[in-house]
Amino acid sequence: MSRAQLVVLGAGPGGYTAAFRAADLGLDVTLVERHERLGGVCLNVGCIPSKALLHVAKVLAEAEDAAAHGIAFGAPSIDLDGVRAFKDGAVDRLTGGLGQMAKGRKVTVVRGEARFTGAHAMEVDGERLEFDRCIVAAGSHAVRLPGIPAEHPRVLDSTSALDLADVPERLLVVGGGIIGLEMATVYDALGSAVTVVELQDGLIPGADRDLVKPLHKRISGRYAAIHLGTAVEAVEPDGEALRVTFGEGGPEPAAFDRVLVAVGRRANGDRLGLDAAGVELGARGVVPVDRQMRTNVPHIFAIGDLVGEPMLAHKAIHEGKVAAEAAAGRRDAAFDPVAIPAVAYTDPELAWAGLTETQAAEEGVTVEVGRFPWSASGRALSSGRPDGMTKWIVEKGSGRLLGAGIVGPHAGELIAEAVLAMETGADVEDLGLTIHPHPTLSESLGIAAEVAAGTATDLPPVRRRSA
Ligand code: NAD
Repeated sequence: MSRAQLVVLGAGPGGYTAAFRAADLGLDVTLVERHERLGGVCLNVGCIPSKALLHVAKVLAEAEDAAAHGIAFGAPSIDLDGVRAFKDGAVDRLTGGLGQMAKGRKVTVVRGEARFTGAHAMEVDGERLEFDRCIVAAGSHAVRLPGIPAEHPRVLDSTSALDLADVPERLLVVGGGIIGLEMATVYDALGSAVTVVELQDGLIPGADRDLVKPLHKRISGRYAAIHLGTAVEAVEPDGEALRVTFGEGGPEPAAFDRVLVAVGRRANGDRLGLDAAGVELGARGVVPVDRQMRTNVPHIFAIGDLVGEPMLAHKAIHEGKVAAEAAAGRRDAAFDPVAIPAVAYTDPELAWAGLTETQAAEEGVTVEVGRFPWSASGRALSSGRPDGMTKWIVEKGSGRLLGAGIVGPHAGELIAEAVLAMETGADVEDLGLTIHPHPTLSESLGIAAEVAAGTATDLPPVRRRSA
């Protein structure tokens, strides 16, 4: 039996951040993780390895696009072992670094599967571990679909898709959300004929349609097919391949070499024995918490995917800090962001933060939208990618910045300025007065604000009604 002042359950970005922050605040911390390596899904089988593969995809796509700019490289020669080694190297460095940082902070790492046995105790692989306080950061798992044999070696989830066992000739991606489309970007660049099937009537349903449009247009020209408003009825082994039947309104049955299922994730709240600790559960495995990330049991906190959407590492990291500070007795700690950015690292990238135009319409918020098409951006044109767009969603009358959306290469980097502007209460005038370097894509945020303020000079004049 062992005991700690604070036990953090789960060593993903939320969990290790909480553990390290709590240790820095002087608590004696034990971090429990079922996998050998720290870092959770994000570092080991999510954000980081996928970004390594997306980097490779970007290089391939840029080399291909360069043919239109007077440079031809010829067909690439792809060494899958080399690609895998590059990806694994990035993961190894990061996860190894976490182990060192845990040691440096004297955080005890316990490996094993944890289950609560009481309000101050859990069992980790049969060993009792007691705690004064606990932060639960046990994440989420991929949703499975009835009719699709998840255990079949040719049926992939986001984890096995990253293994890159081969480059299937015909890949079906079920789910046109962020994971599905990021992996589609990778396999398309490597040479697969990609088909996407999405249940809703548009890709990336959470994003505004004008952001999705350039992505849809580009991938429609590259992929074998995109079927919207379509369900997969069944996936059956058929010799070496998989035979897929689609629901009403869908295409004829077809054969694929691999099928990737990426239809969302579900919180792990009902897999931890939390009832033994008296912690109440919400719907779909989500654990309800207050602004300090406390569950209904005041000394037990929950963070990250476990507390629900958006299931994003950067949200978990900030929640982890709040929970650690609250667990260390800081009364003013609270998770209260103005905006949480979302990024799809597709080609082009999509990024948005704060209120979307769709939400504004649904909630009856009257807004003005300042849009700057990248076809008028010198930097986008001179990079051969004028297909992007930047927009601000602004409160009518006050000029307050409520939301931003960007589509185009580097959108994920550019959105950070928009988040800072919203967090610090800037308005359209502040953004317009901020001198952005020229020529950059970052200028598009300043110019989109000018469009909203009516002071833009980088677009044709707005026709004024005569007085
Ligand atoms: P998602 O919710 O983003 O997308 C799932 C998609 O599958 C949706 O478009 C949904 O309409 C569709 N779908 C659901 N059921 C379907 C069905 N039966 N047939 C066809 N389509 C169906 O989920 P995801 O892409 O699996 O990602 C899971 C989580 O991980 C999300 O919360 C996401 O935000 C997060 N994530 C984030 C990033 C990032 O920030 N770049 C990357 C990967 C994952």
